[in-house]
Amino acid sequence: MLNTLPSKLPDIGSTIFTEMSALALQCQAINLGQGFPDYPPPGPLIQAVSEAMSQGHNQYAPMAGLPQLREAIASKVQAQHGRIYSTESEITVTSGATEALMSSLLALTHPGDEVLLIDPAYDLYAPSIRLAGAEAVRVPMRPPETDDPMFRVDWNRIESAITAKTRMLVLNFPHNPTGLTLKPEDLDALEAIVSRHPILLLSDEAYEHIVFDGFTHLSPVSRPLLADRTVLVSSFGKTFHATGWKIGYCCAPEPVMAETRKVHQFTVFSVSTPMQAGIARYLRESDTLSELSGFYQKKRDRLLSGLKETLLRPLHSEGTFFLLVDTAALGSGLEKELSVRVTREIGVASIPVSAFYADPNRPESNHGLLRLCFAKLDATLDQALERLRGLNTWVAG
Ligand code: PMP
Ligand code: GLN
Repeated sequence: MLNTLPSKLPDIGSTIFTEMSALALQCQAINLGQGFPDYPPPGPLIQAVSEAMSQGHNQYAPMAGLPQLREAIASKVQAQHGRIYSTESEITVTSGATEALMSSLLALTHPGDEVLLIDPAYDLYAPSIRLAGAEAVRVPMRPPETDDPMFRVDWNRIESAITAKTRMLVLNFPHNPTGLTLKPEDLDALEAIVSRHPILLLSDEAYEHIVFDGFTHLSPVSRPLLADRTVLVSSFGKTFHATGWKIGYCCAPEPVMAETRKVHQFTVFSVSTPMQAGIARYLRESDTLSELSGFYQKKRDRLLSGLKETLLRPLHSEGTFFLLVDTAALGSGLEKELSVRVTREIGVASIPVSAFYADPNRPESNHGLLRLCFAKLDATLDQALERLRGLNTWVAG
């Protein structure tokens, strides 16, 4: 009987992040695959969380989150984007961005609905859409070209994919894995689309505080027309070097948030109280958010300049803590196979970009690109670069 249990996700195994981290451990490779820092969260934040525990913040938080954290989020989002969200009815603290995305997709999409994804897309969206009984419709970005070596979003192509069944478009900027950010003209295009079609936007902004070269993160919620249709999702894990804490949040207009909360309350009910109390205090007392982009830009540049001495050609990254490398000099083939070989033989783990497409084995999903995570100590990056220089003899051999 156990062998014949019907599966809701029969074709889904472990995520590529789990797989490559396990391989990295097994081969003692430096793990530039799964995105997590190898340094701790800020000391004062750890202190604020532990004080919250010793001061008795240990029982259930309110379902939507501690009021002081929702207030801190409201002030932060207003300062960033000018949108005022009601702490009472429009902000929910979630178990990471993951739960905010899953709860929103389960609550807001229905059997028969179509949800547009822009490929390459983070691995969580499509299975969540299927669990909601809806269908993911995937529209590819234009892959990098010789005279413009960046992925590009074609908004006309996205609009052409909208049908009467389209309920939602999922956005993720700064973008994992390409490092692309939104520009004013992208928001113009989105406004035009939204004014013509009654769709919702689910905006995954997990990397909102990591944007380079003097740019600031542009959220759809900075435009009232878009904000009225958008669920904004973010993650404190990325912002505070604390991916294991699994705390995030979402903001949306009241009728939308009312639906998302119905799923949230029966999925987790509420999120770790001392973490919420500590983060609320830290957000009130410190001003480190503005330093994050500079901190990561130095790491990006360290990796970029070191890669010049390898056979890997880095693509430009405008945000997130990832950059893509072109592996053309290593030959052709499936990105996944190359990523596994480099992990085993060179000792540096990466993520194949093909894993962000519906079928990683198709030629359209393979552009000879691997994703490297630079949320690592300088010494880790230097050691990884030293190993990657070994690719030169690897290819010659
Ligand atoms: N969205 C994107 C684009 C991500 O890269 C991640 C992973 N860090 C998440 C969502 C999940 O965030 P969290 O760890 O807060 O659940
Ligand atoms: N978001 C992380 C990444 O892109 C992975 C998180 C996870 O392992 N689920 O690497």
